[in-house]
Amino acid sequence: MVLLRSVFSMDSCLFCKIIEKKIPSSIVFEDELCIGFKDINPIAPTHVLFIPKKHIESLNDIISSDESIVGHILGVVSRYAKEQNLDKTGYRVVNNMGKDGGQTVFHLHFHLVGGKSFGWPPG
Ligand code: 5GP
Ligand code: ZN
Repeated sequence: MVLLRSVFSMDSCLFCKIIEKKIPSSIVFEDELCIGFKDINPIAPTHVLFIPKKHIESLNDIISSDESIVGHILGVVSRYAKEQNLDKTGYRVVNNMGKDGGQTVFHLHFHLVGGKSFGWPPG
């Protein structure tokens, strides 16, 4: 049942289609485990979404073998931010989980936003 649900989700998942290049996007990074692509509705001069190639619905759905993928993605984000010189000024990495977290696309993703100053706490 869990497997069936996961296969069904992948079939209808927007970000899986971006990974498969069935939907166009501006990909800025790709390796065997993840891709990074520009957000279609940027909230900052830099706004890139980093996602695992494996379909995982949210941070709430990771299993222990996914933890290395999440760690890998954060390493990729850190290196990408340095390449963009964002490390000098700072940046924010955001994961929205579920309804109260504001998640709208149910394929795990980390927003890298930078190039402007953000307030705290978020709204
Ligand atoms: P969430 O609210 O789930 O954390 O973030 C989803 C993000 O996906 C939003 O920032 C939204 O702008 C972005 N997004 C939604 N649809 C597309 C799309 O088709 N292409 C791209 N590049 N980004 C998208
Ligand atoms: Zn997916």
